[in-house]
Amino acid sequence: MSGTVYVLDTSAVIAGFVPGLADVRQVTVQEVLEEARGLRFKLELETAVTSGKVEIVEPSSSSLVVVEEKVKETGDKLSPTDVKLLALALDLSNAGEEPRLVTDDYAIQNLASLLGLSYEKVLMPGITEVLKWEMKCPACGRTYPPSASRCRVCGSNLIRKPRRKSRQLCKDSH
Ligand SMILES: [Zn+2]
Repeated sequence: MSGTVYVLDTSAVIAGFVPGLADVRQVTVQEVLEEARGLRFKLELETAVTSGKVEIVEPSSSSLVVVEEKVKETGDKLSPTDVKLLALALDLSNAGEEPRLVTDDYAIQNLASLLGLSYEKVLMPGITEVLKWEMKCPACGRTYPPSASRCRVCGSNLIRKPRRKSRQLCKDSH
């Protein structure tokens, strides 16, 4: 059996992509579940996992190696979670499925393109207002507006993070 499989990253989960959307297979990795803990979507995601709506799948080590090599080439800053999601998508692709990474993370999108994997942005209605991002320096911890890419102080590549603030879900228009 093959078909579209959505591979969800934390931004997709935060955006509320998970519950109830379409009868499409949705997968993610354990780390996303852990990152979602403490966010208000934790319960929703755990329910989705418990009910089998979202599967937690561990990527193969061979795909992890392929992705890690690619990351070294590009110099993109990817978290271990990001690498695992890409490896998972690669596994699915190798198995004849049609994985689509659902992510708002530019580095993941970039790597997905290079690996020949398709992705889609988190395009829930109202998401641009709901989801606020900031760039954070992994080395010195300074934060920057979303347009920044490099730390002005230490030169590190910045990592995109959801900004902690109260959120309002506006999904009711669809
Ligand atoms: Zn810095």
